Amino acid sequence: MKILVVNCGSSSLKYQLINMQNESLLAKGLVERIGIEGSVLTHKPEGKDKVVIEHPMKDHKDAIKLVLDALTDKNHGVISDMSEISAVGHRVVHGGEKYASSILINDDVMKVLEECSRLAPLHNPPNLIGINACKALMPNTPMVAVFDTAFHQSMPDYAYMYALPYELYEKYGIRRYGFHGTSHRYVSKIAAEQLGKDIKDCKIITCHLGNGASVAAVLNGKSVDTSMGFTPLEGLVMGTRCGDIDPAVVTFLQEEANLSSKEVNNIMNKKSGVLGLSGVSSDFRDVEDAAENGNNRAKLALDVFYYRVKKYIGAYAAAMGGVDAIVFTAGLGENSPEARYEICKGLEFLGIKIDEDKNKVRGKVTEVSTADSKVKVYLIPTNEELMIARDTMDIVSK
Ligand code: ADP
Repeated sequence: MKILVVNCGSSSLKYQLINMQNESLLAKGLVERIGIEGSVLTHKPEGKDKVVIEHPMKDHKDAIKLVLDALTDKNHGVISDMSEISAVGHRVVHGGEKYASSILINDDVMKVLEECSRLAPLHNPPNLIGINACKALMPNTPMVAVFDTAFHQSMPDYAYMYALPYELYEKYGIRRYGFHGTSHRYVSKIAAEQLGKDIKDCKIITCHLGNGASVAAVLNGKSVDTSMGFTPLEGLVMGTRCGDIDPAVVTFLQEEANLSSKEVNNIMNKKSGVLGLSGVSSDFRDVEDAAENGNNRAKLALDVFYYRVKKYIGAYAAAMGGVDAIVFTAGLGENSPEARYEICKGLEFLGIKIDEDKNKVRGKVTEVSTADSKVKVYLIPTNEELMIARDTMDIVSK
């Protein structure tokens, strides 16, 4: 069975075609500047050079059409006909309280997803556009929606409720939802395998540290808390997002600095985080380099970032009554020995001991804790696309 995984943004689209017989990647690619001048598709068949196709694309349907053409092309294609694609798995950011797992897309589901757009106005609408574009070109191919929020629907009410008037939850759905669920679910499963235990008997803290970053507490295979909230802005310090702040800062900036809600929102989402603190970059590589070269603000940005992750690890160990494993994943978590070391340093009292030599590694499943560390620390590369493909296969095979 071959599954196409699609992740649609407002002007971009990422895809992977996966052969589920052996879970191998057949091709992947990225379409950029959809609906803007200079539309371009970068297609990479596995084991071959990438192909860059510049072609006007007025909308996502044009983009999907070009992707399907590339996948079936005589020279750089990987399948002979579109009918070889058994199903399409779509990444959808927000499933609200309605979806605690992935679901086969039908008209009723589309209606609910449209309602969920209210909660994720930047992300869900392009996801829906992508689904509609695929449906138009592949009307007989089953499609599955896999949600970023679904895994965290198992959080207990005392973890997901904000202490705001209860009516705001009832009227607007204001509560914590959490994101990156597909990644936290994927890496926690591998961590349990590494521990040699049934995931139903594990206490795992997963740290997804990329441009967007979040931590999750996974107790017995279920997410019981996570650092992102109503939106992905809550929690850790990120590339350009501030994470947790005193909410009174928002009204203070509106009143004292005379900023509009849009401007404050833009500051918190696009100009804060390690970018805002360091003034150097949102890319951790640049910030690490600058700190190494004596830039004090870059060092401060990293210190604030590490400290916040460390605090969440302590909080989630408390939430679960202990911890068996800590997992580091995503761009920074997989590639920065320094970040893993600095976050774990000082947590020896919890039984967490990182091995400096084993920790000098990137991008492959590795135990980086010492042999006598009570809590195992792992680097586990995430693979959200594979998880989406697995869910899609499970659902369409039923
Ligand atoms: P997202 O999917 O949220 O855009 P990724 O998981 O791809 O993010 O992570 C991207 C981030 O990972 C980059 O901003 C970069 O700072 C960080 N990163 C990638 N490689 C390295 C590295 N070798 N050292 C330090 N940081 C890295």
